[in-house]
Amino acid sequence: MTDTTQMLTPKPWISGIAPYVPGKSAGADGRPLIKLSANENPLGTGEKARAAFAAAQAAPDALSRYPDPGSVELRAVIAAKFGLDPARIICGNGSDELLHLAAGTYAGVGDEILYVRYGFAVYEIAARRVGAVPVEADDRDYATDVDALLAAVTERTRVVYLANPNNPTGTLASKDEVARLYAGLPKDVLFVIDQAYSEYLTDAEDDGGLELAKTQPNVIITRTFSKIHGLAAERIGWGYASADVISALHRIRLPFNVTRAGQAAAIAAIGDEEFVTASREHNAKWRSWLADELESLGNHGVRVVPSACNFLLVLFEGDVSAETVYNRLMEAGYIVRWLPGQGLPGALRMTIGTEDETRGLAAAIRAALNV
Ligand SMILES: *Cc1c(COP(=O)(O)O)cnc(C)c1O
Repeated sequence: MTDTTQMLTPKPWISGIAPYVPGKSAGADGRPLIKLSANENPLGTGEKARAAFAAAQAAPDALSRYPDPGSVELRAVIAAKFGLDPARIICGNGSDELLHLAAGTYAGVGDEILYVRYGFAVYEIAARRVGAVPVEADDRDYATDVDALLAAVTERTRVVYLANPNNPTGTLASKDEVARLYAGLPKDVLFVIDQAYSEYLTDAEDDGGLELAKTQPNVIITRTFSKIHGLAAERIGWGYASADVISALHRIRLPFNVTRAGQAAAIAAIGDEEFVTASREHNAKWRSWLADELESLGNHGVRVVPSACNFLLVLFEGDVSAETVYNRLMEAGYIVRWLPGQGLPGALRMTIGTEDETRGLAAAIRAALNV
């Protein structure tokens, strides 16, 4: 008989985790598809970052030596660009690592971690990983509802995550709303403003997060090189917060968390304003084009959630379900993101691609709807 007291068992909160589902790039038959499922930059990576990456990889000791554990030069370049104190910048293995560090540093078993429904999928995993209870506040028509978030705060709340703009909905909470949320939070809560898409915003859309992180003791913003900078493969993110928060996060981060070639590429990417501007302008143009195209299908039950990101969340409320459109798009060669696991079985999230991809996608959606 098996002695169950001696069976190796994961912690119960670990068993409760549904693993992160990455955006797919191939169909069930393995056929490569046009990948519009992971919000990557359709223009690829800027030439400057590619050159710096190649040079770093070509060094004789490129593979044998550990990378700079402190990402010192990268932090200096980020600090100069944004007018920040380099000592208060922390680099991460993608901003995902920083999101996990926030939960691991400030929450544990019995604590609560709060975010908005249809928030970024990593938040639930980060909360459960440390044994905390993930708490979802209701959205307001897919957007962040500050009142609902504030109403869900309890004395056990330790961390509040806000992706702004949000993935997978694309919605942006205004500077006033973010300030109101911060003002309503207890001071022993860490407010994490996840700004993975901030480079896609116009100056007028700035949510004030960086200013809060500069001036408040309990706010961290996180940014990534994965999206507009086109460096998703190298896993580079950064965060900015008070010196106390940063030194606490450093206690548990992995020592060599950003690769050498990744640091070099990111340093070059920060300086390549031309590429960032071209990417932002391309996105704005084709996001608005695709939104107009799809909104013209309103009488077929298609609804577009207003987006500040490099993707659209599109609701299919007519005769043809989101799942059917998803499958028909795959047959037509396009992979987008269907999100039943995130409570959105009636919606598809689609990344803005190149001009050809975007035009092709719009045509494929019409065909999928038989119009
Ligand atoms: C893509 C994304 C991230 C970041 O990812 P990394 O590649 O880990 O830097 C973080 N938050 C949101 C909301 C995202 O969509």
